Amino acid sequence: MAGADRAALPDGAAPWGVTGVTGVTGVTGVTGVTGVTGARSGGRGTSGGGMRERGHGVTSPPRGDPSMPQVPASHCAPLRPTALRPPAPRLSPPPSAAREPGGLLSADRLGGRAAGCQDDAVGNTMGNVTVRRLDLGYFVRPASETGTSQPRVEPVLAYLVRHGKGLILFDTGVGDADAETEAHYRPRRRALEDALSAAGVGLDDISVVVNCHLHFDHCGGNPFLGGRPVFVQEAELEAARGGGHTFDHLIDFPGATYEVAAGEAEVWPGVWIIPTPGHTQGHQSLVLRQDDGTVVLAGQAHDVASHFDSEQLARRAALDGVEEPVPPYRPWLDRLMDFDPRRVLFAHDCSIWEPPQTRS
Ligand SMILES: [Zn+2]
Ligand SMILES: [Zn+2]
Repeated sequence: MAGADRAALPDGAAPWGVTGVTGVTGVTGVTGVTGVTGARSGGRGTSGGGMRERGHGVTSPPRGDPSMPQVPASHCAPLRPTALRPPAPRLSPPPSAAREPGGLLSADRLGGRAAGCQDDAVGNTMGNVTVRRLDLGYFVRPASETGTSQPRVEPVLAYLVRHGKGLILFDTGVGDADAETEAHYRPRRRALEDALSAAGVGLDDISVVVNCHLHFDHCGGNPFLGGRPVFVQEAELEAARGGGHTFDHLIDFPGATYEVAAGEAEVWPGVWIIPTPGHTQGHQSLVLRQDDGTVVLAGQAHDVASHFDSEQLARRAALDGVEEPVPPYRPWLDRLMDFDPRRVLFAHDCSIWEPPQTRS
């Protein structure tokens, strides 16, 4: 990794004032846990950094959640430069709606905070849990995938969760890709070790890893964390090993150890993984539940906070009995909102969703 890349990404550990999570009490409706089963890597080892898929050897950006046509499609890795080579088999249906122009909504509209993508203490200090955002770089999504005439630069964000039982790392950054993918997305990586160091910890301090999904821009640092349990959904791991989803060397590396969940699971007390399929079938979010406010690490459940906001408003309208037509929302949103989140954080958006009002 080029030093220049890292130099472009300041190590500003500048916690913002953590406010706005006052007087929050209670979380409702926590039910339906399914078992978590351990699964160690089959020992296939690394792929040597070359092409990653079995079979056709082609990856294609996912094309969004077919069940939710009103939601702009998600397009992170697996990454395939569609503009640079002939069409190849798609891995998922094309979007039925173009991406909304304009990208992010402002923090003001969201009720969140405007902030750069520096490392930040976010989410709050909640009992014995704190959340710190890690800036792991960015990539340039080409115009062909933004639904606009312009490319868009998107951050790559991970989250470090300090819990009484240890440190959880939610996502690990952009992994090594092939030349084609590199040229297509032009990622600028910040070394995971550097980001952790800025947060005062080392790779060896990480207890467990949770990946929202296994596209290469989310699990790139996993090989540096061999031996640590990696919590994933069964469907996601199956997809990752099925070819055309990610790069093999990021999945089956020495010491790879997976804790495979088929549905919800409480990883540690107050720490839940909740399936949030759409971007990928095995996508999951992490819920950090504390007495003074729940924080959700939503990964790429939505590309940007504004999309999450739109959906939760659609749900609100539905629950209020607003007459049709009202837009649909993803079923798992009911489950996430059961936790009464005070903040929802994302993998590719520095904006943070907060509810329109806090309870007193
Ligand atoms: Zn993805
Ligand atoms: Zn992504």
